[in-house]
Amino acid sequence: MIDRSTIERILDAAQIVDVVQEFVPLKKRGVNYLGLCPFHNEKTPSFTVSPSKEIFKCFGCGKAGNSVNFVMEHEHLTYPEALKYLARKYHIEIVEKELTQEELEKQNERESLLVVTSYAARQFTENLFHTDEGISICLTYFKERGFRQDTLKKFDVGYSFEKRDAFSKKALEDGYKQDYLIKTGLSIQHEDHIFDRFSGRVMFPIHSLSGQVLGFGGRVLKTDIKSAKYLNSPESEIYHKSRILYGIYQARKSITQDDRCYLVEGYTDVLSLHEANIENVVASSGTSLTQEQVRLIKRFTQNITILYDGDAAGIKASLRGIDLVLEEGMNVKIVLLPDSEDPDSFSKKVSNDEFLKFLKENETDFIRFKTQLLLSEANNDPVRKADLIRDVVKSIAVIPEAITRTVYIKECSTVLDVSEPILYHEVNKLRQQKSFQDRNKYPGPEDLPVPPPVIVKPVQHETSTYYSEEAVVKLLLKYGSVEFERTINKEDGKEDVLTVSDYIVREITSDDLLFDDSVCSKIFSEFRFHIEHGLITGEKQFVKHDDPEISKLSANLLSEPHQLSKIWKEKQTFVETEEMKLKEIVGDAVLKFKSDKIIKIQKEIKIRLEEAQKANDMELVQQLMKRYANLSVVLGLISRKLGNRILL
Ligand SMILES: [Zn+2]
Repeated sequence: MIDRSTIERILDAAQIVDVVQEFVPLKKRGVNYLGLCPFHNEKTPSFTVSPSKEIFKCFGCGKAGNSVNFVMEHEHLTYPEALKYLARKYHIEIVEKELTQEELEKQNERESLLVVTSYAARQFTENLFHTDEGISICLTYFKERGFRQDTLKKFDVGYSFEKRDAFSKKALEDGYKQDYLIKTGLSIQHEDHIFDRFSGRVMFPIHSLSGQVLGFGGRVLKTDIKSAKYLNSPESEIYHKSRILYGIYQARKSITQDDRCYLVEGYTDVLSLHEANIENVVASSGTSLTQEQVRLIKRFTQNITILYDGDAAGIKASLRGIDLVLEEGMNVKIVLLPDSEDPDSFSKKVSNDEFLKFLKENETDFIRFKTQLLLSEANNDPVRKADLIRDVVKSIAVIPEAITRTVYIKECSTVLDVSEPILYHEVNKLRQQKSFQDRNKYPGPEDLPVPPPVIVKPVQHETSTYYSEEAVVKLLLKYGSVEFERTINKEDGKEDVLTVSDYIVREITSDDLLFDDSVCSKIFSEFRFHIEHGLITGEKQFVKHDDPEISKLSANLLSEPHQLSKIWKEKQTFVETEEMKLKEIVGDAVLKFKSDKIIKIQKEIKIRLEEAQKANDMELVQQLMKRYANLSVVLGLISRKLGNRILL
């Protein structure tokens, strides 16, 4: 843990222009700097850096934040990692917060295990490249299969000797503790002997996002041995196979650049694609694809292409992976390799360009893929065809975006020759069943807060309260300390000044209203805390906040250009700024916030009402209907107050 005062020193020292310029060439334009956005493809620059506000903002893709957010986003680092990066850049010594005994032990153990795994990786590469056994058995094997040495080195591929305790013995001699050797799974204890888990195997280290060795995959070289062909490190404090992907460390930059991630099956498939100049590739080795792995990819891109080889049965077993990708709202394409080819053999048979061309020309969406795969089996059997339709419909139903679902329903209707209304009906039925099951776990899909608009044209979410929450937070950040109104205290005749934040906080807390969005809620709570304790709150505090979510949202909201009144803009006589009509804007924002909340509460009441009616609980029905009616009255009053300014 980095202590608070060190974080502040880092944030104070970091010069946004300086930090960004290390990665993006910038040109001065007035008070700001302009460059080509590193987060999306563009030809004309819309990426702006403001040294006075200490923030960056891309008006193309919407990404925004402070120096720390930039480093996190660009280098794919965690918050502490980004802070450490900046600390190194500005020569600030990191003072770590004192940890509790328990935290300390846990951290020490983690670090000790990482020391052991990185030692092991070094030993194994040493064995492969610089010992007779390694060269004659293992390096020859790779040479015969056509792998280049620089690829092996890039992935720290190594070799573990055949002698059953060679590694463990050497590690103990070099002073590594037996306890850690066993906890990393590199060694196995049997009575009072200690053995190597991976003897006589090619060793593939599995790296974390930042390049630390978490575990290993080991492949046997001799086919006559009865042991498993592949062996993985067991789960440990540092290695969780469901959360990591093989090759992600080497692929992350290229995934971002290409905005696509290829997913293959094995370690050597990853290596083969690198040799074919395709570096944005990972494998979910030792496990079928998990949701955590899909989310790991999602940090870098929305687009996954799965490469399948082999027989239909093998593919069918891994179809669940497609649904996992769809569930995350990502785009999935599938490429089926030619018969009896795997990525390794196929990439060696054709040239690099031909390979890439094949991938691009043969990618299909999941509907066509599943249909081709399953329809041949169905063979005009109506029952089997119905199963296939249900199968495809099930995949469509997990897609979170309504528009994407519509597109796929259309496609499915064409490919499988089923009418669209029937498909809609089936998809909605499945979705309702699912949301019913999940109701206790999650809020309904319509009530989920919408993430900040990072897309160029944000979709209008009428049912969400996010935009009205954001509007309130934006006013707090921009004008929190500006005077809202002045009143004369009748008792002592003194003037009372009410600021914008005083007004907003008073209005929202007096009605006990809550924010749905966690980041908006955090910012609001800090304002409230400051007011209650007579502290002054400034926008800088939030742009430089030590919660990266808060600094990101603040930078985004503060960098938006002034929203000018439409009428004034059209007449072009003079421009009325937000400040000049602040009172009206703040009042309206608070009212809109309130009416959105009421609409949301009414929706919840409706659901409860239906349930109460089903359960024949007439007393509850009456109660709920009364509440609903009361809220409608309040809503009517607010609408009238808002007049036709907003509800036009
Ligand atoms: Zn951008």
